[in-house]
Amino acid sequence: MLETTSKHEAAPSSLGMQKTQYDIAVEQFQRAADLMKLDENVQEILRKPRRILSINFPVKMDDGRILLYQGFRSQHNNALGPYKGGIRYHPNVTIEEVKALSMWMTWKCAVAGIPFGGAKGGVTVNPKLLSKHELERLSRTFFSLISEIVGPFRDIPAPDVYTDSQTMAWFMDEYSKVDRNNANAVVTGKPIIIGGSLGRDSATGKGVAVTVEEAARHLKIDLKKATCAIQGWGNVGSFAHMFLEEAGVKVVAVSDSKGGIHKKTGLWFNEVAAHKKKNTSLANLPSSENITNEELLELDVDILVPAALEDVITENNARSIKAKLVAEGANGPTTPEADDILFKKGVTLIPDILANSGGVSTSYLEWVQNLQHLWWTAEEVDHRLTAIMKKAFAEVWKTSQEQNVDMRTGAYVYAIGKVRDAMQIRGWV
Ligand code: GLU
Repeated sequence: MLETTSKHEAAPSSLGMQKTQYDIAVEQFQRAADLMKLDENVQEILRKPRRILSINFPVKMDDGRILLYQGFRSQHNNALGPYKGGIRYHPNVTIEEVKALSMWMTWKCAVAGIPFGGAKGGVTVNPKLLSKHELERLSRTFFSLISEIVGPFRDIPAPDVYTDSQTMAWFMDEYSKVDRNNANAVVTGKPIIIGGSLGRDSATGKGVAVTVEEAARHLKIDLKKATCAIQGWGNVGSFAHMFLEEAGVKVVAVSDSKGGIHKKTGLWFNEVAAHKKKNTSLANLPSSENITNEELLELDVDILVPAALEDVITENNARSIKAKLVAEGANGPTTPEADDILFKKGVTLIPDILANSGGVSTSYLEWVQNLQHLWWTAEEVDHRLTAIMKKAFAEVWKTSQEQNVDMRTGAYVYAIGKVRDAMQIRGWV
């Protein structure tokens, strides 16, 4: 038994405090660990990130002011391969959130069967308030400061909330200066021209659609007759809309951070995209009604895709969810209490570490192409991604059926088992 006693520390809820994302991540882990009767030493190691870098750094604004920002990189576990995970820019980023997200990445990569561990980074900033030059300076400074712990075989960042291929281009360029090499494999989600992969931008949404199709097959839901609501119409939600529509699903509601729209006869991807481009927000699309983000979750639909941020399905609204199938496009949208309520109601929930693993899986395909200096066609990438997603879904489905648990716990049992095996064979425990 290791010397820490984290399992036995009082849970925040019992002390009347609000649970952090990290508390939730540990709780989810603990459910599976208890079910598996996981070795206590393995548990101790997996409950905490291996290393967290916390950085306070100055950025010069266009008007000459100097502002101090805070950013983090949490590396949870690298038993299965180099650390992997995105970097997000958001005003609510905290060290606890980044720790949780890094742990989720460990399970996500294990579920997907790709040779990576889990990491995550974040900067506490509202990028919408910064000019492009300010964002560039912030990105370059942050990346040069974390460059001591990242690298193509150590830790490979990628886009996440409010970061994109441009951010990755700055990261790669900055790292290449430090490394004195053209190190394109240090980040994934890059622009195509500097080594990005075809299909990476749409990959997370594509993966969500593949898992929905697989679940529908098992649950005998006819997708051609199914309706769907998507919360969040960013990189994940918008492409999930596109691919679900291709699969015959009628998407009747979508939303962004300012609110949503609902149209019973269906919202076509192209019409929503054109409206969003013209108006910058989704609201007021002709012949649809405006709804709130909360109302969207409770709509009478067959499929619900929360693809925005954490903690949106909680014990307060889980009983009002009408969808039969929930696919977590976002990381951490459902609390453990809500998980229980949904499971008891007979709702099938495809957990984040499976449903949104298409992004990191295509990051893996991008990394492989970078290391080999060869380029696959869009069809080839798509084919490989679909195969990865189908296999991951089948493994998680099988584990949850065998253990008679919800799919999140099934996914955890499957993922933790792999990480444990790698740690054991490497001689860590
Ligand atoms: N940020 C994405 C995620 O949460 C992608 C991570 C990656 O590609 O490394 O899965």
